[in-house]
Amino acid sequence: MDNNKHWTKEEILAIYNKPLMELIYEAATVHRQYHDPLKIQVSKLISIKTGGCPEDCGYCPQAARYHTNIEKNDLMPLDEVLAKAEAAKATGSSRVCMGAAWRNVQDGKDFDQVIEMVKGLSAMNMEVCCTLGMVTESQASRLAEAGLHYYNHNIDTSEEYYKEVISTRGFNDRIETLENVRKSALKVCSGGIIGMGETVDDRIGMLMGLQKLSEAPESIPINALVPVEGTPMEEQEIVPIWDVVRMIATTRIVFPKSTVRLSAGRMQMSKEGQALCFMAGASSIFAGDKLLTTPNPGDNEDMQLFNLLGLTPSEKKKDNTEKVKIRKDTLLPTSEEKVKWSRPGHVIEKNKQAAEKAKAIRKALKS
Ligand code: SF4
Repeated sequence: MDNNKHWTKEEILAIYNKPLMELIYEAATVHRQYHDPLKIQVSKLISIKTGGCPEDCGYCPQAARYHTNIEKNDLMPLDEVLAKAEAAKATGSSRVCMGAAWRNVQDGKDFDQVIEMVKGLSAMNMEVCCTLGMVTESQASRLAEAGLHYYNHNIDTSEEYYKEVISTRGFNDRIETLENVRKSALKVCSGGIIGMGETVDDRIGMLMGLQKLSEAPESIPINALVPVEGTPMEEQEIVPIWDVVRMIATTRIVFPKSTVRLSAGRMQMSKEGQALCFMAGASSIFAGDKLLTTPNPGDNEDMQLFNLLGLTPSEKKKDNTEKVKIRKDTLLPTSEEKVKWSRPGHVIEKNKQAAEKAKAIRKALKS
């Protein structure tokens, strides 16, 4: 089956709405054709720069404009990142993903430090991924040259519903970032979040959005919203596990060769619920008791679950970055790159109210 087949919206909707048992069976069958169903790829997510982000993503506690109880941190020192990665490797992680709460990557001291982190992790013989916000082609190429394997940038939801979630950057900026990543030697990791108040059509629309890319992502995270107090989505109900299973299974069928990652929201899921997700084609998780800023099952809990289900963490894949020729001319920043990102400027009432509430709380705390 072709990982880049263009499915119509009706075809994807028909898959999503199949009787659940049929859907899981079909997804599990596809999964077995392209993946070892007893292997789980385990990644460690390290928040290398936490909070203070200028964007207004309605689900995110790291947005500076909302009042959330997260511990903010400047860019983490290199040795701390390497020590965390070493510990993660010892407990079965084959990949480290470094996340920074930035709107976009900016050339300079901090980016140079991230490049050093990538080099250090790559030398530890681990796969390395980054999620640093919007990125230009030359920045992506420099990350690739330093030894990065994957770049994560989620499209979050459908193009239509995106306008209800984020007002500070456009859907097309995301697509452009992913194409910049694709043009460099990097692999693409991009997926979405369910449970943000979107319709089933929007969930299908997210998968349609991924189909817009010149090549399907190698890795597709499916997140279940973790509603955090202080964010505009604090009152969203937890998405039912059945919806998560449907979304995982549909993603597995539409993108048979991609890795489907069961990402945020696992603390809201029972062990049985997670097992169904693995059955339906999820073959990757994030390890550790924290996922950026929200809770996640700890290593022990995950190992117990793997033992129970007969799953084992997969080894690091042999990478092909050395074989890929990075065009030297793309390694230099160009002046046009710096002004490309848009500011759509529409207003999202929920986000505005949450920001105003936060402002009032801060004022009260100061007085
Ligand atoms: S999701 Fe990323 S870009 Fe959006 S507010 Fe959070 S850290 Fe910033």
